[in-house]
Amino acid sequence: MRHDNRIINVIYNNDESSIKTYKLLKKKLMEKGFNMPESYHKEAELNICIGGDGAFLRAVHRYEFPDIPFIGINTGHLGFFQEILPENIEDFIERYMAKDYVIEKIFLVESNILTKDNSFKLLGVNEIVIKGIKSKVVHLEVFINNNHLERFAGDGIIISTPAGSTGYNFSTGGSIVYPSLNTLQITPLSPISSRAYRSLLNSIIVPGDISITIKPEYRYENSILVVVDGMELKYDGITEMKFTVPKKTISRLNFDKNMYWNNLKSKFL
Ligand code: NAP
Repeated sequence: MRHDNRIINVIYNNDESSIKTYKLLKKKLMEKGFNMPESYHKEAELNICIGGDGAFLRAVHRYEFPDIPFIGINTGHLGFFQEILPENIEDFIERYMAKDYVIEKIFLVESNILTKDNSFKLLGVNEIVIKGIKSKVVHLEVFINNNHLERFAGDGIIISTPAGSTGYNFSTGGSIVYPSLNTLQITPLSPISSRAYRSLLNSIIVPGDISITIKPEYRYENSILVVVDGMELKYDGITEMKFTVPKKTISRLNFDKNMYWNNLKSKFL
Protein backbone atom coordinates (compact mmCIF):
# COMPACT_ATOMS: atom_id res chain seq x y z
CA MET A 1 0.00 0.00 0.00
CA ARG A 2 1.29 3.49 -0.95
CA HIS A 3 1.11 6.49 1.42
CA ASP A 4 1.52 9.32 -1.09
CA ASN A 5 -0.51 11.98 0.71
CA ARG A 6 1.07 11.37 4.10
CA ILE A 7 3.57 13.95 5.31
CA ILE A 8 6.30 13.27 7.87
CA ASN A 9 8.77 15.87 9.20
CA VAL A 10 12.28 14.54 9.74
CA ILE A 11 14.43 16.69 12.04
CA TYR A 12 18.09 15.78 12.44
CA ASN A 13 21.25 17.29 13.83
CA ASN A 14 24.62 17.64 12.13
CA ASP A 15 26.29 14.60 13.66
CA GLU A 16 27.71 12.23 11.07
CA SER A 17 25.61 9.35 12.41
CA SER A 18 22.43 11.46 12.30
CA ILE A 19 23.02 12.49 8.69
CA LYS A 20 23.69 8.85 7.72
CA THR A 21 20.53 7.75 9.55
CA TYR A 22 18.51 10.52 7.87
CA LYS A 23 19.58 9.34 4.39
CA LEU A 24 18.61 5.75 5.16
CA LEU A 25 15.28 6.78 6.74
CA LYS A 26 14.43 9.05 3.81
CA LYS A 27 15.07 6.24 1.31
CA LYS A 28 12.92 3.77 3.26
CA LEU A 29 10.05 6.22 3.81
CA MET A 30 10.11 7.27 0.13
CA GLU A 31 9.87 3.62 -0.93
CA LYS A 32 6.59 3.49 1.00
CA GLY A 33 5.42 6.71 -0.67
CA PHE A 34 5.65 9.02 2.36
CA ASN A 35 6.28 12.68 1.67
CA MET A 36 9.11 14.42 3.59
CA PRO A 37 9.12 18.17 3.00
CA GLU A 38 12.41 20.12 2.94
CA SER A 39 11.21 22.45 5.68
CA TYR A 40 9.02 21.81 8.71
CA HIS A 41 5.38 21.20 7.71
CA LYS A 42 2.68 22.16 10.22
CA GLU A 43 0.17 19.66 8.79
CA ALA A 44 2.49 16.64 9.04
CA GLU A 45 1.24 13.55 10.88
CA LEU A 46 4.53 12.75 12.62
CA ASN A 47 7.81 14.40 13.67
CA ILE A 48 10.78 12.05 13.52
CA CYS A 49 13.71 13.49 15.45
CA ILE A 50 17.16 12.00 14.84
CA GLY A 51 19.77 12.62 17.57
CA GLY A 52 19.93 12.35 21.37
CA ASP A 53 17.69 13.78 24.10
CA GLY A 54 19.18 17.25 23.55
CA ALA A 55 18.17 17.14 19.86
CA PHE A 56 14.64 16.18 20.88
CA LEU A 57 14.42 19.05 23.42
CA ARG A 58 15.71 21.58 20.88
CA ALA A 59 13.22 20.35 18.24
CA VAL A 60 10.29 20.73 20.64
CA HIS A 61 11.32 24.31 21.41
CA ARG A 62 12.17 25.24 17.81
CA TYR A 63 8.76 24.08 16.53
CA GLU A 64 6.93 25.62 19.51
CA PHE A 65 5.58 22.55 21.27
CA PRO A 66 3.59 21.18 18.33
CA ASP A 67 0.56 18.90 18.60
CA ILE A 68 2.17 16.57 16.03
CA PRO A 69 3.52 13.51 17.92
CA PHE A 70 7.25 12.83 18.05
CA ILE A 71 9.27 9.67 17.69
CA GLY A 72 13.02 9.71 18.18
CA ILE A 73 15.77 7.78 16.44
CA ASN A 74 18.63 7.68 18.85
CA THR A 75 22.09 8.58 17.59
CA GLY A 76 23.10 10.17 20.93
CA HIS A 77 24.03 8.44 24.16
CA LEU A 78 21.17 6.60 25.81
CA GLY A 79 18.20 8.72 24.82
CA PHE A 80 15.33 8.75 27.28
CA PHE A 81 13.06 10.25 24.65
CA GLN A 82 14.62 8.50 21.65
CA GLU A 83 13.19 5.00 21.36
CA ILE A 84 14.21 3.74 17.91
CA LEU A 85 17.73 2.54 17.13
CA PRO A 86 19.05 3.26 13.60
CA GLU A 87 19.37 -0.47 12.86
CA ASN A 88 15.63 -0.93 13.54
CA ILE A 89 14.34 1.65 11.05
CA GLU A 90 12.63 -0.86 8.77
CA ASP A 91 10.85 -2.55 11.67
CA PHE A 92 9.82 0.90 12.97
CA ILE A 93 8.27 1.87 9.61
CA GLU A 94 6.35 -1.42 9.37
CA ARG A 95 5.00 -1.05 12.90
CA TYR A 96 4.18 2.61 12.33
CA MET A 97 2.15 1.74 9.23
CA ALA A 98 0.38 -1.03 11.17
CA LYS A 99 -0.38 1.53 13.96
CA ASP A 100 1.34 -0.83 16.40
CA TYR A 101 2.10 1.81 19.05
CA VAL A 102 0.52 3.87 21.80
CA ILE A 103 0.60 7.65 21.99
CA GLU A 104 2.07 8.90 25.27
CA LYS A 105 1.34 12.32 26.66
CA ILE A 106 4.32 14.30 27.98
CA PHE A 107 3.41 16.76 30.74
CA LEU A 108 5.18 20.12 30.60
CA VAL A 109 6.09 22.84 33.07
CA GLU A 110 4.98 26.43 32.50
CA SER A 111 6.41 29.49 34.15
CA ASN A 112 4.89 32.93 34.22
CA ILE A 113 7.63 35.40 35.00
CA LEU A 114 6.73 38.86 36.23
CA THR A 115 9.31 41.61 36.06
CA LYS A 116 8.90 45.22 37.18
CA ASP A 117 7.50 46.23 33.79
CA ASN A 118 6.75 43.09 31.83
CA SER A 119 5.62 39.46 31.91
CA PHE A 120 6.88 36.39 30.09
CA LYS A 121 5.60 32.85 29.61
CA LEU A 122 7.97 29.90 29.32
CA LEU A 123 7.36 26.22 28.63
CA GLY A 124 9.75 23.41 29.45
CA VAL A 125 9.83 19.67 28.75
CA ASN A 126 12.41 18.59 31.34
CA GLU A 127 12.70 21.44 33.79
CA ILE A 128 13.05 25.12 34.53
CA VAL A 129 15.99 25.98 36.77
CA ILE A 130 16.36 29.17 38.81
CA LYS A 131 20.03 29.95 39.41
CA GLY A 132 22.28 32.84 40.26
CA ILE A 133 24.20 34.59 37.50
CA LYS A 134 27.99 34.26 37.70
CA SER A 135 27.63 31.37 40.18
CA LYS A 136 26.30 33.67 42.94
CA VAL A 137 24.09 32.33 45.73
CA VAL A 138 20.39 33.07 45.14
CA HIS A 139 17.95 34.04 47.87
CA LEU A 140 14.38 33.00 47.19
CA GLU A 141 11.05 32.85 48.95
CA VAL A 142 9.13 29.71 47.96
CA PHE A 143 5.33 29.41 48.15
CA ILE A 144 3.12 26.42 47.36
CA ASN A 145 -0.46 27.35 46.48
CA ASN A 146 0.22 30.76 48.07
CA ASN A 147 1.40 29.15 51.33
CA HIS A 148 4.88 30.22 52.33
CA LEU A 149 7.08 27.10 52.38
CA GLU A 150 10.66 28.26 52.83
CA ARG A 151 13.31 30.93 52.58
CA PHE A 152 15.86 29.39 50.29
CA ALA A 153 19.50 30.29 49.86
CA GLY A 154 21.84 28.22 47.75
CA ASP A 155 22.78 27.54 44.15
CA GLY A 156 19.18 27.44 42.96
CA ILE A 157 16.03 25.41 42.56
CA ILE A 158 14.96 22.97 39.84
CA ILE A 159 11.29 22.67 38.94
CA SER A 160 11.11 19.45 36.97
CA THR A 161 8.42 17.57 35.08
CA PRO A 162 8.03 13.78 35.43
CA ALA A 163 9.78 13.29 32.05
CA GLY A 164 12.59 15.57 33.21
CA SER A 165 12.91 13.85 36.58
CA THR A 166 15.59 11.51 35.17
CA GLY A 167 17.64 14.49 33.89
CA TYR A 168 19.23 17.26 35.96
CA ASN A 169 16.75 16.59 38.79
CA PHE A 170 18.02 13.05 39.28
CA SER A 171 21.70 14.08 39.25
CA THR A 172 21.00 16.45 42.14
CA GLY A 173 19.26 13.88 44.32
CA GLY A 174 15.64 14.31 43.15
CA SER A 175 13.31 11.35 42.74
CA ILE A 176 12.34 9.61 39.54
CA VAL A 177 8.66 10.23 38.77
CA TYR A 178 6.82 8.00 36.30
CA PRO A 179 5.97 10.12 33.22
CA SER A 180 2.20 9.56 33.35
CA LEU A 181 1.93 11.24 36.79
CA ASN A 182 0.79 14.84 36.55
CA THR A 183 3.21 16.45 39.04
CA LEU A 184 5.98 18.96 39.50
CA GLN A 185 9.09 18.38 41.58
CA ILE A 186 10.97 21.11 43.46
CA THR A 187 14.58 20.14 43.96
CA PRO A 188 17.11 22.29 45.81
CA LEU A 189 20.59 22.87 44.41
CA SER A 190 23.10 22.97 47.28
CA PRO A 191 20.77 24.56 49.85
CA ILE A 192 22.40 26.55 52.67
CA SER A 193 20.94 25.58 56.01
CA SER A 194 21.50 28.27 58.60
CA ARG A 195 19.52 30.28 61.15
CA ALA A 196 18.75 32.86 58.47
CA TYR A 197 17.74 30.47 55.70
CA ARG A 198 15.81 27.29 56.33
CA SER A 199 14.82 25.13 53.41
CA LEU A 200 14.11 21.50 52.70
CA LEU A 201 17.25 19.56 51.87
CA ASN A 202 15.36 17.05 49.75
CA SER A 203 12.96 17.46 46.89
CA ILE A 204 9.22 17.81 47.22
CA ILE A 205 6.69 16.53 44.67
CA VAL A 206 3.43 18.40 44.29
CA PRO A 207 0.29 17.60 42.29
CA GLY A 208 -0.03 19.28 38.92
CA ASP A 209 -3.13 21.28 39.78
CA ILE A 210 -1.41 23.51 42.32
CA SER A 211 1.07 26.29 41.73
CA ILE A 212 4.57 26.98 42.96
CA THR A 213 5.64 30.61 43.31
CA ILE A 214 9.21 31.76 43.73
CA LYS A 215 10.06 35.37 44.62
CA PRO A 216 13.66 36.52 44.65
CA GLU A 217 14.61 38.81 47.53
CA TYR A 218 14.61 42.33 46.13
CA ARG A 219 18.39 42.68 46.31
CA TYR A 220 18.73 39.67 44.02
CA GLU A 221 16.04 40.47 41.44
CA ASN A 222 18.66 41.24 38.77
CA SER A 223 20.88 38.30 39.64
CA ILE A 224 18.59 35.51 38.48
CA LEU A 225 19.26 33.15 35.60
CA VAL A 226 16.41 31.05 34.27
CA VAL A 227 17.45 27.84 32.48
CA VAL A 228 14.77 26.07 30.42
CA ASP A 229 15.75 22.60 29.20
CA GLY A 230 19.40 23.69 29.15
CA MET A 231 18.79 27.08 27.50
CA GLU A 232 19.78 30.14 29.57
CA LEU A 233 17.57 33.23 29.78
CA LYS A 234 18.12 36.43 31.75
CA TYR A 235 15.44 38.92 32.79
CA ASP A 236 15.91 42.20 34.63
CA GLY A 237 13.86 43.05 37.69
CA ILE A 238 12.18 39.70 38.33
CA THR A 239 9.55 40.05 41.04
CA GLU A 240 7.83 36.69 40.83
CA MET A 241 7.95 33.36 38.98
CA LYS A 242 4.91 31.13 39.05
CA PHE A 243 5.13 27.48 37.97
CA THR A 244 2.22 25.28 36.92
CA VAL A 245 1.50 22.23 34.78
CA PRO A 246 -0.17 23.67 31.68
CA LYS A 247 -3.11 22.01 29.90
CA LYS A 248 -0.89 21.89 26.83
CA THR A 249 1.06 18.66 26.43
CA ILE A 250 3.23 17.19 23.71
CA SER A 251 3.17 13.55 22.71
CA ARG A 252 5.42 10.78 21.53
CA LEU A 253 4.82 7.37 20.03
CA ASN A 254 5.77 4.40 22.17
CA PHE A 255 6.38 1.03 20.56
CA ASP A 256 7.94 -0.90 23.45
CA LYS A 257 6.07 -0.79 26.77
CA ASN A 258 9.24 -1.86 28.61
CA MET A 259 11.41 0.92 27.14
CA TYR A 260 11.18 3.19 30.19
CA TRP A 261 12.26 0.52 32.68
CA ASN A 262 15.00 -0.79 30.39
CA ASN A 263 16.31 2.75 29.97
CA LEU A 264 16.32 3.35 33.72
CA LYS A 265 18.24 0.16 34.38
CA SER A 266 20.81 0.67 31.66
CA LYS A 267 21.38 4.34 32.49
CA PHE A 268 21.47 4.30 36.28
CA LEU A 269 22.20 0.76 37.49
P1 NAP B 1 22.68 17.33 26.61
O1 NAP B 1 24.12 17.08 26.53
O2 NAP B 1 21.81 17.08 25.44
O3 NAP B 1 22.07 16.54 27.83
C1 NAP B 1 22.81 16.42 28.99
C2 NAP B 1 22.57 15.06 29.56
O4 NAP B 1 21.24 15.04 30.08
C3 NAP B 1 22.69 13.95 28.52
O5 NAP B 1 23.56 12.99 29.07
C4 NAP B 1 21.27 13.39 28.41
O6 NAP B 1 21.26 11.98 28.55
C5 NAP B 1 20.63 13.82 29.70
N1 NAP B 1 19.20 14.02 29.61
C6 NAP B 1 18.50 15.04 29.03
N2 NAP B 1 17.19 14.90 29.27
C7 NAP B 1 17.07 13.76 30.01
C8 NAP B 1 15.97 13.09 30.59
N3 NAP B 1 14.72 13.57 30.48
N4 NAP B 1 16.20 11.95 31.27
C9 NAP B 1 17.44 11.47 31.42
N5 NAP B 1 18.52 12.05 30.93
C10 NAP B 1 18.33 13.19 30.23
O7 NAP B 1 22.56 18.80 27.16
P2 NAP B 1 21.55 19.92 26.86
O8 NAP B 1 21.28 20.09 25.43
O9 NAP B 1 22.02 21.06 27.65
O10 NAP B 1 20.23 19.24 27.50
C11 NAP B 1 19.60 19.83 28.54
C12 NAP B 1 19.27 18.85 29.59
O11 NAP B 1 20.45 18.38 30.23
C13 NAP B 1 18.51 19.56 30.69
O12 NAP B 1 17.14 19.61 30.40
C14 NAP B 1 18.88 18.81 31.93
O13 NAP B 1 17.88 17.85 32.32
C15 NAP B 1 20.15 18.08 31.59
N6 NAP B 1 21.23 18.56 32.45
C16 NAP B 1 21.76 17.69 33.33
C17 NAP B 1 22.72 18.11 34.22
C18 NAP B 1 23.26 17.12 35.20
O14 NAP B 1 22.84 15.97 35.14
N7 NAP B 1 24.16 17.54 36.09
C19 NAP B 1 23.17 19.43 34.22
C20 NAP B 1 22.61 20.30 33.31
C21 NAP B 1 21.63 19.86 32.43
P3 NAP B 1 21.49 10.91 27.42
O15 NAP B 1 22.88 10.47 27.62
O16 NAP B 1 20.50 9.86 27.75
O17 NAP B 1 21.22 11.58 26.11
